[in-house]
Amino acid sequence: IASKLPDVGTTIFTTMSQMALDYRATNLGQGFPDFNTHPDLISLVSKAMQEGYNQYPAMAGYPALRQAISDKVLSLYGRHYDPATEVTVTSGATEALMSSFQAFVHPGDEVILIEPFYDSYIPAITLAGGKVVSVPLTPPSSDCDKYTIDWNKVEAAISPKTRLIALNFPHNPTGIILSEQDLDAIERITTGTDIILLSDEVYEHIVFNGKKHLSLASRKSLAERSLVISSFGKTYHTTGWKIGYVCAPEALTVELRKVHQFAVFTVSSPMQVALAQFMQQPEHHENLSAFYQDKHDLLLAGLQQTRFRPLPSEGSFFLLADYSRISDMPEIEFSLWLTQEHGVTVIPVSAFYRDPSAPDSNHQLVRFCFAKQDHTLNAALEKLAKV
Ligand code: PMP
Ligand code: GLN
Repeated sequence: IASKLPDVGTTIFTTMSQMALDYRATNLGQGFPDFNTHPDLISLVSKAMQEGYNQYPAMAGYPALRQAISDKVLSLYGRHYDPATEVTVTSGATEALMSSFQAFVHPGDEVILIEPFYDSYIPAITLAGGKVVSVPLTPPSSDCDKYTIDWNKVEAAISPKTRLIALNFPHNPTGIILSEQDLDAIERITTGTDIILLSDEVYEHIVFNGKKHLSLASRKSLAERSLVISSFGKTYHTTGWKIGYVCAPEALTVELRKVHQFAVFTVSSPMQVALAQFMQQPEHHENLSAFYQDKHDLLLAGLQQTRFRPLPSEGSFFLLADYSRISDMPEIEFSLWLTQEHGVTVIPVSAFYRDPSAPDSNHQLVRFCFAKQDHTLNAALEKLAKV
């Protein structure tokens, strides 16, 4: 068969979660909570089912949910998206990404990605016939203990064929977030171009140490060219529901919905009804950073007692740690070894690079997910102390 995705195998998340099961390891790899969602949200779903919300909802999403999303975005980021024409409910952020790339990337167009990047971006761009141009984040060094974005490099990567720049902050896997200076830079390099910005903000409500998530929706000049994507999976601990959304100006939304309506048409009705009602209590997303701060602090403090060297994480439910005091194995080998020999599963950061085996993609870093119960984190730390 002439594969359209010859380089694609099983995702690293599936591979590592299967290994965790096989070796009965503590799984801090794949990003999903090991605790349940809020009981009220579960009750709202069964109530919606009993009330008969079991048929196709509107193609763009249940209207009350689109309204609730619009209200939230207005209150947090000061931008009004018309729920009728500018908010679309999708089957997770994954479908939002796939539909966006299909809608806007023409064969031969270039898409700029900041590397490392989430694993679904390249296959989605490839299927659209696009060409990926990757710009590396600057890795941590003796001067700076975290990854940083060199916007001059992003600017230098722009060509007349650049159709879209994909951004993902808070960033998976590094946990870095955007500053006002970053927004200034994005504004500077895109002004006067017709480049579309795809902003994957699925970790928008998980930011640490009193910092704030800066959405591309918060600036008019950026919002005008942006598809802003989020996911209820991360916000309400429901990764298995696969419900997300896209906020974008009408002209972009029209094209996005053309793909969305033939990719999935619409997404689960009772879940959307329940989410619309649950969103009426903003404390559920407002308290999320504090909830994850405690888990972040627990894992960070624990790792500091081991031979791992954790890097600061400003957002998301991930943090990276350097293992160079333990081993000089490449990241994938180290991750397999850690599962097999020490019973803790992590994700090699090289998996978020275009060529995971290239020396430039290996910095002796692994990703830990702390969306786990405290006893799970403590069990992992106990094992990691012996590594
Ligand atoms: N983008 C990023 C950066 C993610 O980390 C994830 C999920 N893990 C997704 C998109 C996909 O989100 P969803 O599960 O809602 O499809
Ligand atoms: N986004 C999750 C992560 O980064 C995984 C999602 C998936 O398994 N596809 O771990």
